[in-house]
Amino acid sequence: MSGPVPNPGILDIAPYTPGKSPVQKPGQKVFKLSANETPHGPSPRAREAYAEAISHLEDYPEGTSRVLREAIGRAYGLDPNRIICGAGSDEILNLLAHTYLKDGDEAISTTHGFLVYPIATMANGAKNIVAPETNFTADVDAILARVTPRTKLVWLANPNNPTGTYIPFDEVKRLRAGLPAHAVLVLDAAYSDFVSRNDYEIGIELVATTDNTVMTHTFSKIHGLAALRIGWMFGPSNIVDAVNRIRGPFNVSTPAMLAAVAAIEDTAHIRMSREHNEHWRNWLTEEIGKLGLTVTPSVTNFVLIHFPTTKGKTSADADAFLTERGLVLRALNNYGLPHALRMTIGTEEANRLVVDGLRDFMARP
Ligand SMILES: *Cc1c(COP(=O)(O)O)cnc(C)c1O
Repeated sequence: MSGPVPNPGILDIAPYTPGKSPVQKPGQKVFKLSANETPHGPSPRAREAYAEAISHLEDYPEGTSRVLREAIGRAYGLDPNRIICGAGSDEILNLLAHTYLKDGDEAISTTHGFLVYPIATMANGAKNIVAPETNFTADVDAILARVTPRTKLVWLANPNNPTGTYIPFDEVKRLRAGLPAHAVLVLDAAYSDFVSRNDYEIGIELVATTDNTVMTHTFSKIHGLAALRIGWMFGPSNIVDAVNRIRGPFNVSTPAMLAAVAAIEDTAHIRMSREHNEHWRNWLTEEIGKLGLTVTPSVTNFVLIHFPTTKGKTSADADAFLTERGLVLRALNNYGLPHALRMTIGTEEANRLVVDGLRDFMARP
């Protein structure tokens, strides 16, 4: 055979299937509740900062995202020298995989873990090892049982997407303590801003006290800047140094950087988003539960709704029924959850319409 041959692992990756795009009927309002985007939009100050940046589009960005690293440092009490910014946390996750994984290595993720993890793992020729979950929640013992001398990286979204569950910080520390020193533990905190549990921590202490743990975060969720692609990681200096060597020199655009600075400084907007989310998450969990459907207890900005397998009442039936009404949820077949739908918490109007829709769906013959 002649012609280009992709590297080992590339063609084993299942092509990514995004959530379906809503088809709008004339006069019908469509609510996209399928991508965990905020219903509030970004801070108005972030929009202004973005608009102001338009007068200097000819200039390359400042290559280390210094102003943004400093703003993140102030917000979280972190040393900006140990922060790297990226084009979404997707880029950061891929940089980490590229830095630490090669042919024959193994990386562990959990059954219903974020799909970017196996892609980043396999793209670097490493084997994706899946640890089973317990009650849709990461299971530290199951992860530790799968460690081998070839384990180089462990992916843990805490809280996790698409399950909405989390593990307490004590468990995260037990995981770190049980992993070999050469294995990097990646704590993906994309949804941390929505968590209000006493036993939850984002992981800063572990990163600060070990040389093999990193924490990643994003501006795509509570900050409402998904379109701009901004993520970041906080890591020990050895990992920051290694990842910075392969990072593109201008990987975050100036308008994105400046919008993100304004967003993270608008604490009132963040608080409003968090309070709205918490209120409606409780309401949706209760109301959907009353309809006889199971909702996995969530600490995030989405809920996982489980459907029966009886004909006419399946998640596929519900998906079709709600889509007819302009309510677009996320089917999870490619996440190994064929009987569930994920609903992003929306505006009051959207949330009420989904509950009304599900009530009608369950009541129909
Ligand atoms: C949404 C999400 C992210 C954020 O990705 P970006 O590339 O920063 O938009 C990261 N991790 C998980 C688990 C997510 O669901």
